Amino acid sequence: MRRPEDELALIREQGLYRQDRLVRPTNPVEIQVEGQSFVQFAANDYLGLAHSPELTEAYREAAAHLPAGSGASRLITGTHPIHRELEEELAVFKQTERALAFSSGYAVASGCLPALVRKGDFILLDKLCHACLIDGARLSGATLRVFPHNDLDKLARLLDSTRDQVSPEGRILVVTESVFSMDGDLASLPEIVELKDRAGALLWLDEAHAVGVVGPQGRGLAEEMGLTSRIDFQMGTLSKAAAVSGGYLAAAGPWIDLLVNSARSFIFSTAPPPPVAAAALASIRLIQGPAGDARRSALWRNLRQFEAALPTSRPLTSAICPVIVGESEEALQRSAALRERGYWVPAIRFPTVPRGSARLRVSFSAAHQPAQIEGLARSLRDLLSPDGDRQEPSI
Ligand SMILES: *Cc1c(COP(=O)(O)O)cnc(C)c1O
Repeated sequence: MRRPEDELALIREQGLYRQDRLVRPTNPVEIQVEGQSFVQFAANDYLGLAHSPELTEAYREAAAHLPAGSGASRLITGTHPIHRELEEELAVFKQTERALAFSSGYAVASGCLPALVRKGDFILLDKLCHACLIDGARLSGATLRVFPHNDLDKLARLLDSTRDQVSPEGRILVVTESVFSMDGDLASLPEIVELKDRAGALLWLDEAHAVGVVGPQGRGLAEEMGLTSRIDFQMGTLSKAAAVSGGYLAAAGPWIDLLVNSARSFIFSTAPPPPVAAAALASIRLIQGPAGDARRSALWRNLRQFEAALPTSRPLTSAICPVIVGESEEALQRSAALRERGYWVPAIRFPTVPRGSARLRVSFSAAHQPAQIEGLARSLRDLLSPDGDRQEPSI
């Protein structure tokens, strides 16, 4: 039998060993690790809401009045009004008929994809999609075809060939993200929508990193591009810019009823704690309002400041900026070098990203101060041209 020690040794040899470290957040963008302070560019709390007085107060207030836990799956103990209220808000926010809330974004993908497609159906998935989408696709039993990132020609060809293979009853589901989680770039949404409509396919869009950051009132990329009504499934999480926990799928009524009857992560999992749902609701309201607009402006100001200080190969279209390094060990070294200068930026390695594309993943927050942005840009410049190259470094 394999010993765990041997498996771990192999993981270490490849520079892929991971460790969870004890980290104390002291404010939206600072953490303490072993007594030392760092400015972090690591979180998905893009609007700095996790520490905001508005949200923490909403949480406190909810916790004082609502039960700490849900007791069981909603199909057993029933739906608490706060879950209904959250879902109604999400449906309005995402401009769909209905929405269904789950305990995490992961649970949305791993539970809903297998409920929507099955053996005999097809899933066409962008190569850079998040692990939970891949897992959901695999669990479904549908035939999985992966297209290179944003490769529209390949997607068109796959749609053509699957259309000939699928039965009249069968479904073809295209799956993509709006803002890609490790690259920060955008899906070519108008073209993808055109292609899937022409092929009679369905489209699933994961807006995890777009909501709160992109689109009018932070509604996401679908709304930014005026395509909401043509997207069949909009997935999102309540854990990134919304800064709480949970996930949702927004879609037309019959789809949601079908999921209530067949998504295993909904049926066989305890509903999120009511205070968590209440905090998420407060967060979604905040994101759409003037406070959300103010925080979004601050975030985009920070992004523009960073680009001005350190040229990027393409304009930043989200709060995520990858600095591709290549090998795992090198990404770890760069991350350690930044830590020495007081910046906490994670090294992202296989299997989170493809082999050979290890990177630093810099994520920005509305709560970063100009001096912190400037300091990180300066440190990255030094790191990328250590000999004081005359050539301007860019990422
Ligand atoms: C984080 C993430 C998820 C999972 O969401 P959780 O709420 O953290 O489980 C899903 N999709 C993408 C693209 C993500 O980045």
